Amino acid sequence: MTDALTVVIGAGHNGLVAAAYLARAGRRVLVLEAADHVGGAAVTREFAPRFRVSSVAHLTHLLDPSIIRELDLTRHGLAFAREELKSVVLNPTGEALVLDGAEIVSGPVSAADRASYAEFSARLRRLATVLGRQHGRVPPRLGWSHWREALPAAALGLDLRRLGRDDLREFLRIVTMPVYDLVEESFESPLLKGAVALDAVLGTRLGARSGNTVFSYLHRLSGAAYGRRGPALPRGGVGSVTDSLAAAARIAGASIRLSSPVEAILVEQGRVAGVRLAGGERIEARAVVSSADPKTTLLRLLGARHLEAEFAQRVHHLRATGTAAKLHLALAGLPRFTGVPAEWLGERLLLAPSATYVDQAFDHAKYRRCSDAPALEITIPTVHDATLAPDGQHVLSAIVQYAPHDVDGGWDAARGPFLERVLALLEAHAPGLRAQLLAAQLLTPADLEREFRMHGGHWHHAELTIDQALMLRPVPGAAQYAAPVAGLYLCGAGSHPGGGVIGAAGRNAARVVAEDDP
Ligand SMILES: Cc1cc2nc3c(=O)[nH]c(=O)nc-3n(C[C@H](O)[C@H](O)[C@H](O)COP(=O)(O)OP(=O)(O)OC[C@H]3O[C@@H](n4cnc5c(N)ncnc54)[C@H](O)[C@@H]3O)c2cc1C
Repeated sequence: MTDALTVVIGAGHNGLVAAAYLARAGRRVLVLEAADHVGGAAVTREFAPRFRVSSVAHLTHLLDPSIIRELDLTRHGLAFAREELKSVVLNPTGEALVLDGAEIVSGPVSAADRASYAEFSARLRRLATVLGRQHGRVPPRLGWSHWREALPAAALGLDLRRLGRDDLREFLRIVTMPVYDLVEESFESPLLKGAVALDAVLGTRLGARSGNTVFSYLHRLSGAAYGRRGPALPRGGVGSVTDSLAAAARIAGASIRLSSPVEAILVEQGRVAGVRLAGGERIEARAVVSSADPKTTLLRLLGARHLEAEFAQRVHHLRATGTAAKLHLALAGLPRFTGVPAEWLGERLLLAPSATYVDQAFDHAKYRRCSDAPALEITIPTVHDATLAPDGQHVLSAIVQYAPHDVDGGWDAARGPFLERVLALLEAHAPGLRAQLLAAQLLTPADLEREFRMHGGHWHHAELTIDQALMLRPVPGAAQYAAPVAGLYLCGAGSHPGGGVIGAAGRNAARVVAEDDP
């Protein structure tokens, strides 16, 4: 084992996971984070005096339980205010639809839809389990020179085979399909179709009628591989996940330097030699493991001159334009949503009344405009976690889809009217909400890019579609975490298995680094 330094760029959850595993393997690890706090896009911050919120990611549905266990995150402070949240689909004309995993709890759906949904959910979870099982594996190579290199492909093949003939056929039939077509053939209820469609497109630049949205739905469900029924709400916000990871990394021996933006990855004699910080400080390292997105890492910090032209072109052409914004409201009291009994207000509220609504919301984004009527995933974390707001007051946190990063005319002009539109939409579903409003914060993808250094403000650092997944993620030639320059590795959401607070990219990358340079 080498005593030379390993630098990890970024203290988002994946960078911290990589640092913790590398340090536990006995390596000397230094994490360099540009921000003055850890967490990346998994962070809790104050957005109005005495109101705190999960600034970007707010629910964990994919966090790998083996990472929680192996890094002992519970001992380092990780706790959940609620697990297995239900989904409550707001109904503009009456009673909301309540879903709990594969079960319809209540709502205006036919008996036929109840039966179909149970069957649909069970089957889709079985199919998603195949993806979930790949999270902890380094993606297979398409060619191999040693039989051991064939094992990952064999494992994937075996997982698919184990589905059995009927499920495998269904997997192949639907995996590239638009979610719109799948819900049309499966259900009658517009609310049910809307809920599935929104889950399929959240965080993507895809509409319900876009190809690949069944694949992104399967990614969202892939926590089924860990036996998850629904998402969880970390106590103290999602920042408690990354705070506990930072504690685990430090206890394992890693150092974390904040306010230390890396300006360049240094290359000497064809291999990585270290990094240069903004301000000029040079830090020598034998390996650099970057959780910054692939375009930032490979084109800006490393530089295309160190890459073959074709590879650099692939990175340049990665699709990575975010369309999900985040809205935070400080409220004087608990809002009341029409058709939602008080007992469901702490669940995940979805504003997606039909698959057509979700698809039409996307139409605007295709032409760089914000949705006239956006689709929303809403949480009111203070129902379960009073630490986030003053007594009796509440925080509403919503993912707002679609708000394109490259909005026509720029965000200075678009921000005010869009915020007004979203507030009017919320008021229509929660009459009286505006009268409770104390403060509002809208983080557009352009804000997310600037504040959190994610290229395009994209949820996955790069769109998660089949042509940018598994052994193609982020691009061929870097899909097994090692970049084409010796000593440089990727470990963020732009690598397999993609975005969401999972941690698997960080852990897999740490394994590859250790194997390359034991
Ligand atoms: C609006 C929105 C809502 C979301 N909601 C959810 C959700 O509810 N649940 C969920 O699971 N996922 C959600 N996500 C996705 C999730 O937030 C991300 O996929 C995940 O946080 C990415 O983690 P990461 O560690 O790979 O990268 P990041 O969290 O982006 O961390 C990368 C780190 O690198 C640092 N960095 C970058 N460049 C440099 C540099 N040059 N020098 C030093 N440091 C640098 C950054 O400051 C950052 O701290 C959401 C995303 C968005 C955009």
